[in-house]
Amino acid sequence: ERVATTIDKVCAVIPDYPEPGIIFRDLTPLFADGAALREVVDALLRRFEGQFDVVAGVEARGFLLASAAAYAAGVGVLPVRKEGKLPRETYAESYQLEYGTATLEIHRDDIPAGARVLVLDDILATGGTLGAAVKLVERAGLHVAGIGVVMELEGLAGRSNLTGHEVSALYTV
Ligand code: IMP
Repeated sequence: ERVATTIDKVCAVIPDYPEPGIIFRDLTPLFADGAALREVVDALLRRFEGQFDVVAGVEARGFLLASAAAYAAGVGVLPVRKEGKLPRETYAESYQLEYGTATLEIHRDDIPAGARVLVLDDILATGGTLGAAVKLVERAGLHVAGIGVVMELEGLAGRSNLTGHEVSALYTV
């Protein structure tokens, strides 16, 4: 597919970052390229066309995709934030990182119950992050319409944390 070729061309690959042995995929050149950004957002939207009422993005790089997608689709955006950033009542979910845990939160009542939510992030690795995001969306009484990512790191089996949901990756490595 054309969009996969674009991602392959513009994504930077950094060996041994943030530590030896890790191959870090950096999508900032993609976000910085207007044609590539549009191609990626349009491709994500096409896969879920007519299936969602709002787009959720996971802090921080998911925000870039979610707000572009929401604007293009004419719907609102729901921020899934790192802990301690949201001022009103939240739901919180913690998940395992390689060392320690992290916590994500959403506001309880930003979106009316029953809305269909497309959840976006840049990269699916172990699936801990998106797994927590999906749980939050469901705890808020919302329906997960699907999960979209630019890139899936297949070897980490992140989909096993997202069973029961449609997961669409534009590029798999
Ligand atoms: P997971 O929770 O293990 O699936 O990790 C996903 C989160 O870590 C996402 O929010 C990604 O942005 C980030 N992440 C994991 N691997 C990479 C990478 O190689 N490059 C950039 N971000 C990454």
